[in-house]
Amino acid sequence: MSYLTGKVVVIGLGLIGGSLAKALRTRGICKTVIGYDRDEDELAAGLRLGIIDEAATDLLGAVEVADVVVLAVPVKAMETVLAEMLPALRPETIITDVGSVKGNVIRAAQELFGSVPNRFIPGHPIAGSEKSGVAAADATLFEHHKVIITPLPQSDSDAVTLIARMWQSVGAEVLQMDVERHDEVLAATSHLPHLLAFSLVDTLAQEQDRNDIFRYAAGGFRDFTRIAASDPTMWHDVGLANKTAILQKIDEFTTGLAQLKQAIETEDSRAMLGIFTRAKAAREHFS
Ligand code: NAD
Repeated sequence: MSYLTGKVVVIGLGLIGGSLAKALRTRGICKTVIGYDRDEDELAAGLRLGIIDEAATDLLGAVEVADVVVLAVPVKAMETVLAEMLPALRPETIITDVGSVKGNVIRAAQELFGSVPNRFIPGHPIAGSEKSGVAAADATLFEHHKVIITPLPQSDSDAVTLIARMWQSVGAEVLQMDVERHDEVLAATSHLPHLLAFSLVDTLAQEQDRNDIFRYAAGGFRDFTRIAASDPTMWHDVGLANKTAILQKIDEFTTGLAQLKQAIETEDSRAMLGIFTRAKAAREHFS
C-alpha cells in the first residue's frame, strides 16, 4: 500500500482535528496519525474511538517525528502552539492549519520564524458544525466541501501539492486564495452570520418573557439561530483575529438593516419589497 505521507501529527483533537484524523485513518491516507491535545480526556477519547493511531503526551516528541503537522486548535491558540513546537520542528516537516482566519496565523508565523516558512501552507476547511470536541468527529465531514488553502509566493510547491492532496483524499475540493481575500470573504459568509445569530439569541434571551419566545419559535428561528449554539471560545477568537474585516461587514449590515427599519417606519412598501425581492433572488440563485 502506498501512503501519501508518513506521520501526520494533529494538534488539537476537537471537531475539525478529530474529523481530519479519523478521515485520514479510515481511508489509509498516511502511515500513522498521531494526536496531541492539551485536554487529556479528549486525547484518551480519540484513542478509544479509533480516531488516532497514537496519543502523544509530549508535544515536542510528536512534532520531532512528524512529516506533516496539522494545527487544529482555536484561532488564538495557533500562535502559542507554533511557539511551543518550534524547538522540535525539522526543516523538512510540512505545517498546515485549519483556522477560520488566515491573516493572524500567518502574521504569528512571520514574527516567530522571521519569515513565513516555505513549508507552512495555511488552510481552512469550509466544513464544520455547531458541535465541538472529539466525540463529534466525523470522517465524512469534508466530503463535497471546499477547503481553501492560502499559500504565499515563497511556498514550496511540493508542500502545497501534498496539503492539497491530503484534503482531496478525504473528499474535499481544494481552492487557492489570497490571504486578505480569504479573510474578507469569510467575514461576510461565515463570521458575520455567526455573530448575528449569537447577537439575536442573546437579545431575545434577555427578554422577560423569553420562555414564551423560545417555546413558540418556529422553523425560521431554528434555521437562523442553529449556529448560535457554536463554541463561544472559537467565535471569540475569530471575532478578534479578523477584527478589521468583521467590523467592515457589521457596518455594511447595520446600514442595510437601518434602511429596512426606515422603510418599515415610513411604510415604504416599494423599498421593503425591493429589499426582499433582491434578497430572495440572490438566495435562490445561491441554492
Ligand atoms: P474544538 O473546540 O472542537 O477543538 C479544539 C481542540 O483544541 C480542543 O480539543 C482543545 O482542547 C484543543 N486545544 C486548545 N488549545 C490548545 C493548545 N494550546 N494546545 C493543544 N490543544 C489545544 O474546535 P474545532 O471546532 O475543532 O476548531 C478548531 C479549529 O478549526 C479552529 O481554529 C477553528 O477556527 C477551525 N474551524 C472550525 C470549524 C467549525 O465549524 N467548528 C470549521 C472550520 C474551521
